[in-house]
Amino acid sequence: MRCYDCATEAQLKTEASANCVVCGAGLCIEHSIEGYSQEALTGSLGNPAVHRLPGRKLFCRTCAPDYLKLTVSPHRSQLAVG
Ligand SMILES: [Zn+2]
Ligand SMILES: [Zn+2]
Repeated sequence: MRCYDCATEAQLKTEASANCVVCGAGLCIEHSIEGYSQEALTGSLGNPAVHRLPGRKLFCRTCAPDYLKLTVSPHRSQLAVG
């Protein structure tokens, strides 16, 4: 399988080494975003909290949850400059 983001953005045929758990797209190392599962805790009123679950989930950039997008390195966004 090839990386979907590489193929659509740069016509590159990079071998995928992961799959997005949401949409199933093939992802290379650079395009995969490592995250984790979480579940909402309903114990405290008016103070929602989440509990991080063990294990690992890999997302593409489109499907990555908001909490992951905030911490993603932007190094690739500078490639098109110049
Ligand atoms: Zn890629
Ligand atoms: Zn996805």
